[in-house]
Amino acid sequence: MISLSEAFELTLSKTNILGTETVTISECGGFVLAEDVFSDVSMPPFDKSMMDGYAVRSADCEKTPVTLKIVETIPAGYYPKVVLKPGQASKIMTGAPIPEGADTVQMVEKTEQIATDQVKIFESIPTRKHIAYKSEVMVSGGVVIKKGSVLSPGKIGVLASVGKSSVKIYKRPRVAILVTGSELVEINEKPGTGQIRNSNGYALYEQALNAGCLPTLLSIASDELEQLKANIELGLQSDVLLISGGVSMGEFDLVKDVLDDLGIEFYFDKINIKPGKPTVFGVKDNTLIFGLPGNPVSASTIFELIVRPALRKTIGHAQLSHRVVTAILGKDFNSRTKRECYHPAFVRYEENNFFAAPIKSKGSADIVAFANSNSFIVTNETKQAYEKGELITAVLRNDFWQ
Ligand code: AMP
Ligand code: MG
Repeated sequence: MISLSEAFELTLSKTNILGTETVTISECGGFVLAEDVFSDVSMPPFDKSMMDGYAVRSADCEKTPVTLKIVETIPAGYYPKVVLKPGQASKIMTGAPIPEGADTVQMVEKTEQIATDQVKIFESIPTRKHIAYKSEVMVSGGVVIKKGSVLSPGKIGVLASVGKSSVKIYKRPRVAILVTGSELVEINEKPGTGQIRNSNGYALYEQALNAGCLPTLLSIASDELEQLKANIELGLQSDVLLISGGVSMGEFDLVKDVLDDLGIEFYFDKINIKPGKPTVFGVKDNTLIFGLPGNPVSASTIFELIVRPALRKTIGHAQLSHRVVTAILGKDFNSRTKRECYHPAFVRYEENNFFAAPIKSKGSADIVAFANSNSFIVTNETKQAYEKGELITAVLRNDFWQ
């Protein structure tokens, strides 16, 4: 049985970028840019005023107060026509071009217009104040966003300013989700005796979606060879197939038999971790196949620790796994297992420290406890019992940042 870190490395070694696709600027947020983006304009396109006030010559304002003659009013969007001479000022608005002859801008708050063509400047001002100079932000023809960047709102603003209405990103994988189990019913049905609703399908769908993929839910497969095989074959048409359930040791856990039958090579079928030990990973042609345990907490945990990093790799991210921090434990905690263990916890950041409160859980079927967590705390074979106030490793899931 392999360790989590071995499973992680092995999975990533079999995972590649899928290609590129072009999406519109409003669809690209959070994805990784697959091309360098160049600017087709200089910014600012001219020396521009960053304040409402008066464009002046600094030398005229050495002794204040001083009265200057207003020779022009320059609103944004207007190009100045008058060249400033000594003793003159142009009234200027934020975003408007600086007139020739001016070398600085005094803000309106430090002036008073005393006649239609006269302004009193109360404070002297050095040259180059409140001016954004031509091309200081970007030069026409220069690279403004590098290939490999994650498209944040700020970068999307840059794309817009250079007129890039569509961009090349790394291709989003199509993720098929297949839940298996003869006890499962759809969510709009009332479970009968011995039945439960399919919750994993929807939780995994959301996880794949917020990992930046294009998920599809296949119909529920019962624990019956032929049906399972037909559904798995359908799922193999996607870039990634996530199967929930049917991978443990029970008589009706048939997923591995079907994968074998289809000639799929597994790289591992167990990870030395709790929860989520019966996890299968294989590859068929270009499809990555993950067989996740049916217990909902196990399936979600393995998704976060193994599947999400692989999905992130396919779309070109450099940061693959969740942030790991050291947190102060909020109450006594005992993991009761010598395996590497990921326990649901609620982590908060306060006064320069992370604090982790373990969530009381009935185990890997306790979806309510898991849903109240935003992180994992991690224990391993070396230490099981922790006291309140001790330091513990915490993995911050996306829920932490919400
Ligand atoms: P299995 O891995 O198939 O042995 O399933 C382990 C446990 O998880 C069983 O109690 C199943 O009923 C439950 N389970 C399996 N699939 C799902 C699912 N899609 N939604 C909710 N629970 C499930
Ligand atoms: Mg099952």
